[in-house]
Amino acid sequence: MKENLIIAIDGYSSTGKSSMSKIIARNLGYTHIDSGAMYRAVTLYAFQHQYIVDNKIDEQALIINLSDIKIEFKQDLITQKNLTFLNGENVEADIRTMEVSKMVSPISEIPAVRDYCVALQQQMGEKGGIVMDGRDIGTTVFPNADIKIFVTASPEVRAQRRFLEYQQQGKNIPLDEVLKNVNERDYIDSHREYSPLRKADDAIEVDNSNMNLEETVNKVMEIINSKK
Ligand code: C5P
Repeated sequence: MKENLIIAIDGYSSTGKSSMSKIIARNLGYTHIDSGAMYRAVTLYAFQHQYIVDNKIDEQALIINLSDIKIEFKQDLITQKNLTFLNGENVEADIRTMEVSKMVSPISEIPAVRDYCVALQQQMGEKGGIVMDGRDIGTTVFPNADIKIFVTASPEVRAQRRFLEYQQQGKNIPLDEVLKNVNERDYIDSHREYSPLRKADDAIEVDNSNMNLEETVNKVMEIINSKK
């Protein structure tokens, strides 16, 4: 049996990829890497430096300064949660706002941003023993990943999940606005020219529209155990 597998979990937004990846990584004693957090951190950086103004992106300025962006993950020792750090600052909450969610897909379309994040992801995962979730992990980042899962669910179910998450954080964002953002991100992510969101030919599709988190984890663990 091969040790230290690379497990790629790709799929649409709000399918619960990160939550399931975190539990699966813990079950296996692996590291979880949320690649979406990196694109969110780059988007936050662009906001902080006024490279995004009125929904317009100053791509050149962002590209020139990409090498100034330092992204790290650290674990909160008390909650065991993965925290995202941007240039030394904990930005875990700031990267999950609706403002960032609205601009993250256009930012992730920029080829230089993708190259920057993909190189970081490959470096973080090169030794294996990782569960990495995202959009292009099984196609571009680790085309030779040992196990590839592609998670889907209906847009309405996904919007409802994200809506409840916002509510739990005390944020009252209307369901139709959340659904619009889910649909827009799906569209941009799957239609961009460079490394679009698509199921790798050898990925196993899991539709979790009618499954809760525990059921989804069980299903994916079954797939992993059958392939190990
Ligand atoms: O996973 P999450 O929804 O937080 O990702 C935020 C956005 O980052 C996605 O909508 C997508 O535009 C971008 N992304 C990407 N490639 C990845 C992970 C995320 O383009 N591997």
